[in-house]
Amino acid sequence: MAKKLDKVVAVTVGVGWTGGIIAAELAKEGLKVVGLERGEDRSTDDFQMIHDEYRYAVRYGLMQDVSKETITFRNNPDEHALPMRQLGSFLPGEGVGGAGIHWNGQTWRFLPYDLEIKSKTDEAYGKDKLGEDYTLQDWGITYDELEPYFYQFELTTGLSGEENPLGAPRENDYPTPPMKSTPILDRFKEAAKNLELHPFQMPSANLSEKYENPDGQTINACQYCGYCERFGCEYGAKTSPNITVIPTAQKTGDFELRTDSNVVEILHEDGKATGVRYVDVKTGEEFDQPADVVILTSYVLNNTRLLLESELGRPYDPETKDGVIGKNYCYQITAGATGYFEDEKFNTFMGAGALGATVDDYNGDNFDHTDLDFIHGGTLSITQTGRRPIESNPVPKDTPSWGKEFKAKSLQYFNRSLSVGSEGASMPHRNNYLSLDPDYKDAYGSPLLRLTYDFTEQDKNLYRFMSERAAEILKEMGADIVEQNEISEHYDIVPYQTTHNTGGVIMGADPETSAVNNYLQMWDVDNLFVVGASAFAHNGGYNPTGTVGALAYRAAEGILKYLDEGGQLVQAKKTSQLV
Ligand SMILES: Cc1cc2nc3c(=O)[nH]c(=O)nc-3n(C[C@H](O)[C@H](O)[C@H](O)COP(=O)(O)OP(=O)(O)OC[C@H]3O[C@@H](n4cnc5c(N)ncnc54)[C@H](O)[C@@H]3O)c2cc1C
Ligand code: SF4
Repeated sequence: MAKKLDKVVAVTVGVGWTGGIIAAELAKEGLKVVGLERGEDRSTDDFQMIHDEYRYAVRYGLMQDVSKETITFRNNPDEHALPMRQLGSFLPGEGVGGAGIHWNGQTWRFLPYDLEIKSKTDEAYGKDKLGEDYTLQDWGITYDELEPYFYQFELTTGLSGEENPLGAPRENDYPTPPMKSTPILDRFKEAAKNLELHPFQMPSANLSEKYENPDGQTINACQYCGYCERFGCEYGAKTSPNITVIPTAQKTGDFELRTDSNVVEILHEDGKATGVRYVDVKTGEEFDQPADVVILTSYVLNNTRLLLESELGRPYDPETKDGVIGKNYCYQITAGATGYFEDEKFNTFMGAGALGATVDDYNGDNFDHTDLDFIHGGTLSITQTGRRPIESNPVPKDTPSWGKEFKAKSLQYFNRSLSVGSEGASMPHRNNYLSLDPDYKDAYGSPLLRLTYDFTEQDKNLYRFMSERAAEILKEMGADIVEQNEISEHYDIVPYQTTHNTGGVIMGADPETSAVNNYLQMWDVDNLFVVGASAFAHNGGYNPTGTVGALAYRAAEGILKYLDEGGQLVQAKKTSQLV
């Protein structure tokens, strides 16, 4: 029998970027907040001596423990899904700070086109260019409405950047100047200019200089150590929830962080959330934490799973396209190309997670798609993240995978190859969705989340186009051999691609087709907010966290408004009323 605890104003499920932002904003207003985090506590002190590639990058030292909880996967609804017993295609976080500890820090604002994608695409190319199986939707909010929240997140993170001539318009400059450029980035920028593209320095949460944010938290200057993605930062220079929003919440005295606390159910009665049930993962003891407002901040996968498991909202059905929970799961289309240089060496061993140069000429609707067989696009970037000894071994495709020639080419090209890659957008399809697995359970007896996902024709066409553009840039950079990446016939969940999963609890203007309104408040349960990339109605051509952060600040404002006024914060509209 679960032990009932004293009621608090708000409880967050998970304490990463989204949980931290909500906790800080509510606690600053003097409200009692409890943050329940399934993993352990973590701070910059824990990241000293962390440059151990095997432990952290290969054995996933900071990521979700799949011996306790994982997902099952299949490519299409006719297959039987099987559990992922090792992490692969994506690496969800676990522990205080979530994936915000081991992320890269490439931090973007989605384009105005993204937020009104259905209307703008229909307007430009006629109704349903992709066909009715693509469940494209507007997000129920415009870029102009979201702009101040983007800036709020950028001020919190101290983001380092410079003007992107084709990006979303900005009211204010970046809080800090761009990171240093390097010979590799300069080479990319020069080639892009020769091709009449518009290069700029990637916006980075690895800060170019020491910065104090509006909450009084200090973020240090990046040392370009090259151990960023998959590692914590020992210098306190990669902006993370642990050095910004979480200490801000803690210093108010109104935030209580409870680690090793795995939430298994959202408690509810008569259409209202009453709290959550969680298990102490060390003792197995169960607790009920009552709260006035429940906020799911447990990443895309568990936000969706907890709603399905707690029987809140209408589960999505791919046959009829009815229901909303689990709908519009999207990913990212990671196209690109690699260039090999015979006579030039580059300092690829140095870098930082978000040290890069980008062009946005092939992103969103920045180019004409009339004669193309896909919509949207993505960034094309060169990043210098620091090539590490175990997992980096670039060799041309015709190289044998062992023996003398393999060794010779591995040595030849370690410092003589560069890649240009795309964060390609991913469009929703009726058969790509999340549901509960009927067979497999986690260590606490709850059903696993089942992912049904495959590449679509849109994905494949976008991938080929973006890879060709990447190859053009590398040729202009002077590479002797240029090889385009190839997309597999079916999505394979084993090799790492990106941890940019989106959808499942999408936002919109119509409760028939979306799960949450534009404050991320559930249409069906006024005092339940579901925060994260789970709200994305599709995935854009950028990394997601800038947009996740903006939506989290918007949700925090909504929660305060709800506590003041109660009820639904947004008037629902029928899709037929939306122009
Ligand atoms: C290797 C890597 C590189 C990345 N690089 C970038 C990048 O450069 N740019 C970018 O924009 N994004 C990047 N991302 C993505 C970015 O990290 C995420 O978008 C961001 O961390 C999401 O924040 P969140 O709060 O939604 O979720 P998370 O950070 O995942 O936090 C959720 C927290 O909830 C906890 N939790 C889950 N379920 C429960 C439960 N049932 N009970 C209690 N607690 C629970 C988890 O343990 C976790 O700590 C990267 C991700 C990875 C893994
Ligand atoms: S590259 Fe910079 S931000 Fe990243 S871990 Fe090293 S010092 Fe920190």
